[in-house]
Amino acid sequence: MERCPTCNAKYAGKRLCHRCKTNLGVLVDIEEKAKEHLEAAKAALASDDIKQMFFHAKRSCSLRRTPEAERLLAYASLLVNQYDRAISSWRNV
Ligand SMILES: [Zn+2]
Repeated sequence: MERCPTCNAKYAGKRLCHRCKTNLGVLVDIEEKAKEHLEAAKAALASDDIKQMFFHAKRSCSLRRTPEAERLLAYASLLVNQYDRAISSWRNV
């Protein structure tokens, strides 16, 4: 998150927006969880656990769509033979 979704103030890394006091904690938590799932997907790939990779890549992408998460989900989808999902994810990159 680069800016507060309520007032567009620059995000200062705190759980409350410094300008409008919107609670940004839930969004911060979601972003962190998405990163955790992304790292778990990479770790699963490294250990050849493709089912877990696919699970974590889907989770990460559902929490926060980033180009990296979409690419990883496209790759995981290919590995589990879900070609339509792979194409869909790749188009979103
Ligand atoms: Zn704000």
